[in-house]
Amino acid sequence: MSDKSDVIVIGAGPAGYVAAIRCAQLGLKTLCVDNWLNQQGKPSLGGTCLNVGCIPSKALLQSSEMFEQANKQFSEHGIKLSSVELDLAQMMARKNRVVSELTQGIAALLKMNRVQAISGTARLLADRVVEVTGADGEKQKYAASNVIIASGSSSVELAAAPLTDNLIVDSSGALAFEEVPERLGVIGGGVIGLELGSVWRRLGSEVVILEAQDEFLALADQQLAMEAKRTFKKQGLDIRLNARLLDSEIIDGKQVRVTYQDEKGDHHETFDKLIVAVGRKPNSDHVFDEEVDLLLDERCFIHVDEYCETSQPGVYAIGDVVRGPMLAHKGSEEGMMVAERIAGQQAEMNYDLVPSVIYTHPEIAWVGKTEQQLKASGENYSVGSFPFVASGRAKAQGDTTGMVKILAHAETDRVLGVHIMGAHASELIAQAVIAMQLGSSSEDLALTVFAHPSLSEALHEAALAVDNRAIHIAPKRK
Ligand code: FAD
Ligand code: NAD
Repeated sequence: MSDKSDVIVIGAGPAGYVAAIRCAQLGLKTLCVDNWLNQQGKPSLGGTCLNVGCIPSKALLQSSEMFEQANKQFSEHGIKLSSVELDLAQMMARKNRVVSELTQGIAALLKMNRVQAISGTARLLADRVVEVTGADGEKQKYAASNVIIASGSSSVELAAAPLTDNLIVDSSGALAFEEVPERLGVIGGGVIGLELGSVWRRLGSEVVILEAQDEFLALADQQLAMEAKRTFKKQGLDIRLNARLLDSEIIDGKQVRVTYQDEKGDHHETFDKLIVAVGRKPNSDHVFDEEVDLLLDERCFIHVDEYCETSQPGVYAIGDVVRGPMLAHKGSEEGMMVAERIAGQQAEMNYDLVPSVIYTHPEIAWVGKTEQQLKASGENYSVGSFPFVASGRAKAQGDTTGMVKILAHAETDRVLGVHIMGAHASELIAQAVIAMQLGSSSEDLALTVFAHPSLSEALHEAALAVDNRAIHIAPKRK
C-alpha cells in the first residue's frame, strides 16, 4: 500500500477533476483515479462531459449551425455561395481535436496542481482504502483520510431497442456517425434528443423524435416549451409526443423498424439510424465493495446530504452519481464545496440556482422557478416578458425567435425565475443567475444600465415589463 493521502477522488469528470484541483489548491495531498480510455486506448480525463458529452456535442452543434446558416441564411445577408458542401469527416476531425485538446488540458492542470492522476478502475473498500485495477489487470491499494466518489453516469438502455454496433446507438454513437443518415429516429425528446436531433437535421437528416410523455420539455417553463416546440417543428424536427416504443427490428442489417403506440394506436417507422436518448443512470454499482455500507436511494443514486456526505464518515459523493440535475456545472460546484469542507471551511452550494440550458437554436435557458411551479405552490407572482422580435440587436442579427420571461414575487418583487429562449440564451442566463444569487428584485434589474444594442436589453425590458413599463412593446391593458 502506498503512503496515505488526504483525499482520493474516484472519477475525473467535471465533478471529480474540479474536486481534485480544489483539494490540491487547499494543500491536501490528492490522488485522482479515472478509467476512461479514448479510442486509441489512452487515458483521457474529463469524463463523459469532455469525451462524449457537453464538449463534442457543442462542437457539432456549432459546426452544423454554421452549415445551416451557409445553406439558408447567408443569401439573406447578401452573401452568395456557389455551393455549400458538407465534409463530415473534417467536421468530426475538428470535434475530435477539440476533445483531445481539452482532455489533455485537464491532465496538464492536474499535473500543475500536483494531483497524482492514476489510470484504472477504482473500488472503495472498508476504512477508505481504494483498490485500483489498471488496464493490465494489476491491482494496487491506496489509503486516504477522505474519499470523494465522482463516478458519473451512463446512458439508460431500452429493452425494446437494444444497442447495436452502428444502427441503434446511444448519444456517444450519435456523436460519431460516419455519414448523414437519411432518416433518423430518436427515442426521447429530452435534452440529448433535441440537441443531437438538431445536429443531424441541420446536416440533412429527416428526424423523427418519439417522446413518451404527453408534455414537451416538462421541466421547462411551459410557455417557452410550447413556443420551442412550434419553432423546432418549423425547422423540420418531427416531434411526436405520447409515443411509447414497443419494439424494434433490424432489417437486412441496414435499417431499424420501430413500432410505437400513441393514443391513435400502433405505428411503424423505418429509420437508417436510431438514437436512444431516454436519460442517464448513476454509475453506483461497481464503485464500492459490499463491505462498505454505502446507502443508495431508490433510483440507485448514492445517498448524500446537502453537503454531499454519504452514510459513511469521510466518504463523499458528487456529480451525476448523486441526486439533483445531471449537469456538469452542478457536479463541479459540488466538487469545490466538498474540497473546501474537507479542508475545514464552511462551504455551501445554492442548489436553487443551478441554470439549465438546451443548446438548440434558438437556445433555451432558465434558472429558478417555472410559472407552473409557482402556480402549483400557490405563490403570488408577477410576470414580465419581452420578445426578441422587438430587440434591435436581435433584428440586426436575424435572430428574433423567442423571449425573456421574468417571474417575480408579487409583494417583495424578488426575482423567482428567469426563462429565456433565444440566441445566446446560455450566456444571457448568467446575468439572471448573478442577479438572483444576490437576491435582486426585478426593480434592481430595471434600474441597471444595459448596453445598446445588445440581446441583454431584452432582460432589462422584461424586468421593466414586470411593472408594465417596458419601452419597446405595447403596454399590457389593465
Ligand atoms: P462523468 O463526467 O460521467 O465522469 C465520471 C468519470 O469517472 C468518467 O471518466 C468515468 O470513466 C470515471 N469512472 C467511473 N467509475 C469509475 C471507477 N470505478 N474508477 C475510476 N473511474 C471511474 N451537461 C451540461 O452541464 N452541459 C451540457 O451541455 C451537457 N451536454 C451533454 C451532452 C451529452 C451527449 C451527454 C451524454 C451529457 C451532457 N451533459 C451536459 C451532462 C454532463 O456530461 C454530466 O452531467 C457530467 O459529465 C457529469 O460529471 P461527473 O463528473 O459527475 O461524471
Ligand atoms: P432527459 O431526461 O433530458 O430526456 C429523456 C427523455 O426521454 C424524457 O423526455 C423522457 O420522457 C423520454 N423517455 C424516457 N423513456 C422513454 C421511452 N421509453 N420512449 C420515449 N421517450 C422516453 O435525458 P437525456 O436527454 O437522455 O439526457 C441525459 C442527461 O444528460 C440529462 O439529465 C441532461 O441533464 C444531461 N444533458 C444535459 C445537456 C445540457 O445541459 N445541455 C445536454 C445533454 C445532456
